[in-house]
Amino acid sequence: MNKHKIAIIGSGPAGLAAAIYTARAEIDTTIYAGEEPGGQLTKTTEIENYPGVMGKTGPELMMAMTEQTQKFGAKIIYEAVDDLTKLQSEYDSVILAMGASPRLMGVGEERYWGKGFSTCAVCDAAFYKNKNVYVVGGGDAAIEDAMALTKFADTVTILVRKTEFRASKAMQKRITDNKDKVTVMWSTNLKEIRGEKVEELVLDVDGQEQVVKADGLFFAIGHLPATGFLQKSAVKLDEQGYIVNGNDGWPTMTSVTGVFAAGDCVDHRYRQAATAVGMGVQAALDCERWLERR
Ligand code: NAP
Repeated sequence: MNKHKIAIIGSGPAGLAAAIYTARAEIDTTIYAGEEPGGQLTKTTEIENYPGVMGKTGPELMMAMTEQTQKFGAKIIYEAVDDLTKLQSEYDSVILAMGASPRLMGVGEERYWGKGFSTCAVCDAAFYKNKNVYVVGGGDAAIEDAMALTKFADTVTILVRKTEFRASKAMQKRITDNKDKVTVMWSTNLKEIRGEKVEELVLDVDGQEQVVKADGLFFAIGHLPATGFLQKSAVKLDEQGYIVNGNDGWPTMTSVTGVFAAGDCVDHRYRQAATAVGMGVQAALDCERWLERR
């Protein structure tokens, strides 16, 4: 059986950018769009920090990228993939771009996406000018998010469930440097969100219930890469489940020859649409050259 050329798993910025490049290079490309076509950006509102894009929402940007892949002839299948070996029997090469999802808490937060709740301060901080906002988490990301918010918000309160940060000392020092705006509440768990949009938070502070007024709520409690189905494959993952790239001199090739990876399922550091797009393009170019050399 003649195999198809490239399967791309994931239809967020990394997968779609890769598809634009491979399809435009006239290589037969199929995108498996998965259960959440468009990825995390479909949950954001206005996009302000994607170079060259102004006045578009997250879903509109992803729709434009999807149309661009189709203009060059990429095929889209709206299914998730759960068996890499089977896919490899049908395609010469695979680009993994399943992304990651922010960890959630299950306190009703999903009702408030775009209504005061966000998991990306870098994306959404600018919407909180002169507001009072809360950040949940005690790691580097929580402090980084709090710092991003201090540029706009009047007050930023970090809710930490323990009595100490997990974040590095260097990051913790940034709080001291911004103590006029940033407050930390220790031994504090978020229990409930109230209002049509985020208006009040019900907290458990060391066993005592406390209700506070809030204009915004940000979670920074870690991310989960969508790599569960790779556990039974030979693709190398790190201890947190992120894909480890760099095989045979190809920066974007996984430990399995002919399988490349890009975006948030590889990168737990930058996690921006623009960086995912960049890595998607790198994977597409590596994949194209690897196919040529075979
Ligand atoms: P992380 O280091 O895993 O920290 C997650 C934080 O969220 C922890 O404080 C954890 O609390 C808390 N948490 C988890 N589940 C929670 C829940 N249900 N309720 C309340 N709190 C909860 O994750 P991260 O901060 O996203 O960082 C991920 C990686 O990226 C790390 O390696 C980090 O160093 C790196 N990073 C670096 C920078 C930087 O250097 N500029 C910036 C961002 C991220 P416990 O401590 O109680 O477990």
